Formats: sequence, structure tokens, C-alpha cells
Amino acid sequence: MKTLNALGTDEQIAKWMPLAMDYKILGTYAQTELGHGTYLRGLETTATFDPTTQEFIIDTPQITATKWWPGDLGKTSTHAMVLAQLYSNGQNYGMHPFIVQIRSLKDHSPLPGSS
Ligand SMILES: Cc1cc2nc3c(=O)[nH]c(=O)nc-3n(C[C@H](O)[C@H](O)[C@H](O)COP(=O)(O)OP(=O)(O)OC[C@H]3O[C@@H](n4cnc5c(N)ncnc54)[C@H](O)[C@@H]3O)c2cc1C
Repeated sequence: MKTLNALGTDEQIAKWMPLAMDYKILGTYAQTELGHGTYLRGLETTATFDPTTQEFIIDTPQITATKWWPGDLGKTSTHAMVLAQLYSNGQNYGMHPFIVQIRSLKDHSPLPGSS
């Protein structure tokens, strides 16, 4: 919630904060990677914007990009604030946070691509 408040737009805060306050979603902060701690510019997780679908495709291209250390990610969280290198039209725009749903809100099972 602190990250959302600090980095979110008014629209994002209005959408997500009430859900978090009511425990409808449980968040985690996913910055650190297996291969990258203090050196944040070295993060390897990518978020590539696809203009045809208007979606961001989050990818961990190799094992060193695996998110590592986020509290509650293993069993509890439904959503993760994933720090990733933003790519659009082949250009790197640096690190940005992305809210990624990782578990079903019905039965808490991991969503495809999130385990
Ligand atoms: C209990 C706990 C909970 C955590 N929870 C989260 C979480 O919820 N989400 C998340 O994303 N991460 C989390 N982390 C990860 C934490 O943020 C990282 O441990 C931190 O970013 C440091 O990374 P590292 O451990 O890989 O150390 P490294 O980056 O490998 O650094 C090791 C040592 O080298 C020093 N060092 C590194 N680079 C340089 C340099 N260029 N020059 C000089 N010295 C340098 C550092 O100061 C440090 O003393 C958690 C960690 C702990 C211990």
C-alpha cells in the first residue's frame, strides 16, 4: 500500500487502495531478483508494451531475473508490485512498477505464468 500511494496515479490509488484496505487483495513488493539486489538498474525482468493488445507482457528471461525475497509472495499474496524494465517500440524506458495479479481471488490458486 505504501508503494501504491507513493508511485500510483490518482486513478490507480482510487481503484486499488480500497481493495487492499478491505483485505480483498493482498500485495507484495517484488523488486529484488536472484541475481540483482542493491544494483537496481541491473534488474532483468521486462515489461514489454504490446500496442496491438494494449497490454504489458511481463517476462523473466533467465533464472537470475527470478523475483527473490518478496515477503508473502510464496503463499499469501494475490497481487505483486513487480519492478521491471519497461520496453516500448524496442526502446528501454527504465524501471517501472506494475501491478500483477498472481493468484485467483476465488480459490487462491496460482494464475498461469505466475508460478
Ligand atoms: C527480511 C528481508 C525481507 C525482504 N523483503 C523484500 C521484499 O519484500 N521485496 C523485495 O523486492 N526485496 C526484499 N528483500 C531484499 C532486499 O531488499 C535485498 O536484500 C537488498 O536489495 C539487497 O540486495 P542483496 O541482498 O542481493 O545484496 P547485494 O546487492 O548483493 O549487496 C551485498 C552487499 O554489497 C554491498 N554493495 C552492493 N553493491 C555495491 C556497490 N556497487 N558498491 C559498494 N557496495 C555494494 C551492499 O551494500 C551489501 O552490503 C528483503 C530482504 C530481507 C533480508
